[in-house]
Amino acid sequence: MTAEQSPRPLPAGTDTEIAIVGGGLSGTIAAIVLGRAGHQVTLIDRYDVFPREFRVEKIAGDQIVKMRRLGLLDRLSQAAVAFDEIVNVRRGRVLDRTHARHYGIFYDDLVGAMRAELPSTVRFIAGRVSGVEAGAERQRVSILGQGEVTARLLVLATGMGDILKRDLGIERKFVHQRQSLTFGFNLRPAGSGAFRHPALTYYGERVSDGVDYLNFFPAADVTRANLFVFRDHRDPWVKAMRERPRETLIETLPGLVKAFGDFEVIDRVESWLTDITVAENCKRDGVVLIGDAYQTSCPAAGTGVSRLLTDVERLAVHVPRWLASPGMAAGKITQFYDDPAKQAMDTHGLQLAHFRRRLTIDTDLEWRARRQIHFSRRRILHEINKVSPAFAAKLRSLGRPRVEPAA
Ligand SMILES: Cc1cc2nc3c(=O)[nH]c(=O)nc-3n(C[C@H](O)[C@H](O)[C@H](O)COP(=O)(O)OP(=O)(O)OC[C@H]3O[C@@H](n4cnc5c(N)ncnc54)[C@H](O)[C@@H]3O)c2cc1C
Repeated sequence: MTAEQSPRPLPAGTDTEIAIVGGGLSGTIAAIVLGRAGHQVTLIDRYDVFPREFRVEKIAGDQIVKMRRLGLLDRLSQAAVAFDEIVNVRRGRVLDRTHARHYGIFYDDLVGAMRAELPSTVRFIAGRVSGVEAGAERQRVSILGQGEVTARLLVLATGMGDILKRDLGIERKFVHQRQSLTFGFNLRPAGSGAFRHPALTYYGERVSDGVDYLNFFPAADVTRANLFVFRDHRDPWVKAMRERPRETLIETLPGLVKAFGDFEVIDRVESWLTDITVAENCKRDGVVLIGDAYQTSCPAAGTGVSRLLTDVERLAVHVPRWLASPGMAAGKITQFYDDPAKQAMDTHGLQLAHFRRRLTIDTDLEWRARRQIHFSRRRILHEINKVSPAFAAKLRSLGRPRVEPAA
């Protein structure tokens, strides 16, 4: 793990056009895009090199489209492991196969790869921001032991649960507390065998298990697993999953070993409990929130990266107009939050989070029927696809629900 940088005093009166606090995925990509557009950008993050932290590990679908549009896909594809087929399995039987480009990559490698794209004009400061002040003209960012940066616009990309927002009177509204649990671990084939597929998604078998799905995919030089669960974090099953992952998975998903091959879990099991939150009272002078700092996403829905890329794309449209006239009053900032493309993406993230949870664990008649239809439809389309791929594609496009996770 990388230590936080030791403070170096800043030159007195350090001033910039845009100060971005938080150099995770959203802050780093915002700095690249705004820097490339010719703005004077200062990016500040606690870590000189992003540490190993459990976040998104698979990039796919519209995320790839957006990365390409932002000119970042080449760098991503150099740093990640590409794969093009996922075998989707439920109750030991193949449901269907997904044919599309995916990238497996650990989050620190992803942020590192993006940071390598920062233009030389973007100033990067490694340091912990201890306070922020925002106003209609000038924004102030205090960096612990290093002094102050002033800016015309402050972008907060500080991720979930950060306390700086409170300095500005911005609160978090809980849309769903303890929405989901995510587990991540590395595995290798048991004995001298190999896995049956490079990538596999195994859906939960029983509603009472609360398992949405388990992904196996290549990342760096290992096979990585991401498991998405809707279950109380105090449940003994959760402890068992951390302590005896192989046995717990085999008990919960009896068809797994047959579908993928026997496995050993290497290293420790990481886990993360996600709250879905949205920032409140954020239409304020001088400051704009992006990525998880604005709204968190359910990992099972796989919309976190789609959302933050939309935030960056829309910010890049608004910022030049804001800088073209004096001041940075709330009226300008509001345009970003009211942007229809941003709002549609944020709403989609919340809807998909709600959908995945209900599809996995809801036991009322409507959701039992929807679950049945959802998986039967996929299986039937898979069978039709074997006979007539064109007809299957046509049927798929007719009733395509926007409810499958992007990654
Ligand atoms: C377990 C897990 C699995 C996920 N899986 C998926 C998935 O499959 N698909 C998907 O699309 N999304 C997924 N997500 C969501 C996705 O990872 C996040 O939406 C995304 O990483 C958010 O990026 P961010 O830049 O907004 O925040 P972060 O990456 O959290 O960045 C915040 C940055 O702010 C910095 N910072 C905070 N406070 C300060 C301070 N005071 N001073 C200086 N720096 C500061 C931190 O050091 C950090 O670098 C997952 C999330 C989790 C937790």
